[in-house]
Amino acid sequence: MYTCGPTIYDYAHIGNFRTFIFEDILRRYLKFKGYSVTQVMNLTDVDDRTVKASRKEGIKLREYTERYAKAFFEDLDALNIERAEYYPRATEHIKEMTALVKKLIDNGYAYETAGSTYYDISKFTGYGKLSGVAASQQGIRVTADEYGKDEARDFALWKTWDEDDGEVFWETEVGKGRPGWHLECSAMSMKYLGETFDIHAGGVDLIFPHHENEIAQSEAATGKPFVKYWLHAEHLIVEGRKMSKSLGNFYTLRDLIQKGYDPTAIRYLLISAHYRDQLNFTFKGLDQASNTATRLNEFHTRLQEAQNSTTHNPTITTLTHKLLKNFDEAMDQDLNTPAALAALFEAVRDINKELDTGKYSRQDIQQATDTLNKVNTVLGILKPQAKPTTLEQEILQLIHAREDARKRKDWTTADKIRTQLQQKGIILEDTPQGVKWRIKR
Ligand code: AMP
Ligand code: ZN
Repeated sequence: MYTCGPTIYDYAHIGNFRTFIFEDILRRYLKFKGYSVTQVMNLTDVDDRTVKASRKEGIKLREYTERYAKAFFEDLDALNIERAEYYPRATEHIKEMTALVKKLIDNGYAYETAGSTYYDISKFTGYGKLSGVAASQQGIRVTADEYGKDEARDFALWKTWDEDDGEVFWETEVGKGRPGWHLECSAMSMKYLGETFDIHAGGVDLIFPHHENEIAQSEAATGKPFVKYWLHAEHLIVEGRKMSKSLGNFYTLRDLIQKGYDPTAIRYLLISAHYRDQLNFTFKGLDQASNTATRLNEFHTRLQEAQNSTTHNPTITTLTHKLLKNFDEAMDQDLNTPAALAALFEAVRDINKELDTGKYSRQDIQQATDTLNKVNTVLGILKPQAKPTTLEQEILQLIHAREDARKRKDWTTADKIRTQLQQKGIILEDTPQGVKWRIKR
């Protein structure tokens, strides 16, 4: 699976992360279903935007992009996005890219003008098959990496050096210059995944021209189908418009963390709509997502703290089976995450009711926990549980020893342990759900 990655000229915004989290869910669900996944995500570290931004700051391109690559990986971790197998960078694949340009020239799909090389879209009969944008106007060239959605143009494969590029250039067989943006994804996907591979994903804005151009480049070079399945995530929007840097209506993950939001809540919000529906970002929505994510994590904690009574509760077994079945059905329907989350919250509500009765066995709790963890291998919205500290482990051991003593009706030992804990500043409370402990204030 190839997923178009970030252009590392700035921090990624949460619109970008909507797409990256959708791809993470896709990856995790494929694994859940037993597929083995090899995912490649490129880092665009040379294009119009990165060159311009680094020049503006007066530092080397690599030094500039490195800062945002580092930030990107930190954000991936915060949002619990699994790592892809490969993160190739454009600047490290100039050889593969120029080889592809040469191949396209040899095959008659590319031409050189004033030192730059352009793709001749009139030569590729399949042009427009993904996006429906027809190659009607012929011979009109565009040098910029990004251009209008309705304009099929001969696009730059290789851009000859000009003054605005400063130190950013490579001396190659196709001239002194730098690659056009579309080229890297064809060259790097085929390098790591082969000439034909299964899945290619990105945001809807990439369908045209970027993915259309990738198909044109790859298929004209190899004569083989490039990709079997294309998946595109709809946009995160703000007040009816796409969240984007150029519109200035964006939030980065860091902005939201600074406002006190938990990344788990942000991840939850971003998967709460189906990936092919637009998702409107509001702070009210984020607040609701925070509450819901908290409720789920509280349920998780409740399971972990549940003290076993001995009565088996068959309803819990039924509920966990129902959850797995509904989850699977929802996700099989083109990754219907809102339906999958609805199934999860129905199960949380119903299992909570069973826990309220106080009748359940250790196995019931284990089964509920395992099911929740299983579903979470795909959704990734449970906060990692902090490992108990040595003190906590010691306290729990003493509590268990006291309970054993009580079961043996050995009240002297039980009382001795309670006093021992009190001396450590630990107060025990016997509740219907079992023994709880807290630190004396
Ligand atoms: P970029 O860094 O601009 O190349 O974008 C990285 C990824 O984010 C691409 O797959 C884009 O399609 C996607 N993307 C950009 N803006 C949004 C948005 N507002 N909502 C969802 N995805 C987006
Ligand atoms: Zn791409």
